[in-house]
Amino acid sequence: MTTVALLISPLLALTSPDALSPELTQDTIRRSGSQGSETASAANDAPNQLRTVVLDAGHGGKDPGCLGRKTRESRIVLKLVLQLGRKIKEEMPNVRVIYTRASDHFVELAERSAIANRNKADLFISLHCNASPSSSRVYGTETYTMGLHKTNGNLDVAKRENAVILKEDNYQQTYKGFNPNSPLAHIMLANYQHAFMGSSINFAEKVERSFRRNAERKSNGVKQAGFLVLWRTTMPSVLIETGFLTNPDEEDYLISSEGQEEISDAIYKAFAQYKQEIEAGG
Ligand SMILES: [Zn+2]
Repeated sequence: MTTVALLISPLLALTSPDALSPELTQDTIRRSGSQGSETASAANDAPNQLRTVVLDAGHGGKDPGCLGRKTRESRIVLKLVLQLGRKIKEEMPNVRVIYTRASDHFVELAERSAIANRNKADLFISLHCNASPSSSRVYGTETYTMGLHKTNGNLDVAKRENAVILKEDNYQQTYKGFNPNSPLAHIMLANYQHAFMGSSINFAEKVERSFRRNAERKSNGVKQAGFLVLWRTTMPSVLIETGFLTNPDEEDYLISSEGQEEISDAIYKAFAQYKQEIEAGG
């Protein structure tokens, strides 16, 4: 009984209305309301514009992320994010690019999504590198949206990425007692209705297709799992695993300037396609 109670209580917290932050609810209402009023008032700004993107380099500072033989995740993803941001700024001067971190320092997961919400971002992109504890042969890219994991492998990725909260002060309060080691907690987290699931999957599919076509990477596809960094975002949001640092060949690729250029360019092309599509009204 004690075990059950211990498991259930954080889940109740996650599913209770209290767990839905007023900020999230208000933002959702404001966003849907403002879209209507923009159309009605025929403001200068056209509707469906992709104005702001938040680029999130995972980990940083005291949290190195996963480790390869030569490098660490926090270092690779910072380079990728800055390159991606530079491309967007150069090609699309009207798009506001916001970084959750632009140097090697620690940012809490809740703060990353809060940055996106405060800035009323239209898209949130979190960049990561993958790790396989069992095999150095596993490689390829995968892009996640918030949702229920279909395999234990997907769950393991979410558990690993969510475990960084253990380095945060007050993580039990911030994440309502969420236990990053509990499979059940991940099921409850993933069952959260994410209002932007369709758009998130749309963008995720473009990213994976672009990795295949433009960077000739092996795509492991679009997947779902419960990620705390995506949990409270009030806009389409994805988490991209750009490759496995535990695979020596893929690590070398991700360290190389050519590899970084290809990966950031592939994501940029997916972004450009997605932007064009939503601004055309589709
Ligand atoms: Zn990561």
